Amino acid sequence: MSGIRALVFDLDGTLYVSDGVGREINASAMRYLATLRGISPEEAKLLVRETKEKIAALTGWTASLSHACLELGGDLQELHRHFAAEIVPEPYLSRDERVVELLRRLGERYELHIYTNNNRPLASRIMGALGVAGYFRRVFTIEDSWRPKPDLEVLKEIFREIGQEPPQCQFVGDRYDIDLRLPLELGCRVFHTRTVDELLTIETTLA
Ligand SMILES: [Mg+2]
Repeated sequence: MSGIRALVFDLDGTLYVSDGVGREINASAMRYLATLRGISPEEAKLLVRETKEKIAALTGWTASLSHACLELGGDLQELHRHFAAEIVPEPYLSRDERVVELLRRLGERYELHIYTNNNRPLASRIMGALGVAGYFRRVFTIEDSWRPKPDLEVLKEIFREIGQEPPQCQFVGDRYDIDLRLPLELGCRVFHTRTVDELLTIETTLA
């Protein structure tokens, strides 16, 4: 027995992969930062890229869009108000029965949770379009703390709220430094997935 009781999934890029949703999120962020800094969206894109590289060089961790936004003087609540108002994810998403069936099977053996840097309205719409909303006991979103992953205090709070210790949890995500590195350091198991086909192999690691 693995001793795993809870699976904690990232959402975007993990339970589905969509260039379209990613492009919409980036475009909305660039419009927000462009207005904030009085520059063009193209200049904002370059600035975000440079800022992410600078943070990564300083910290040794891949920087998220959220962290770059904060570094550039942005406000995460404002950024997510833009996301929730502007992004329409449904045209890019479709229900994948293989994923729905996987979550149904996993849900019989483990408690399933979501931990995402996305906001609650968008996460709900995305999970609705994927047909997976009913499988998760808890959905932890950016509104819970306004502290993006990776964040030690938020992780500890999640363990408290789900009532599990790190060795009883397996984290599942597409970005190693954002989703998995800190849980691994705390003693969780992790599963790195970059495609739905990879996600569908997760049960082989839980036997
Ligand atoms: Mg992701």
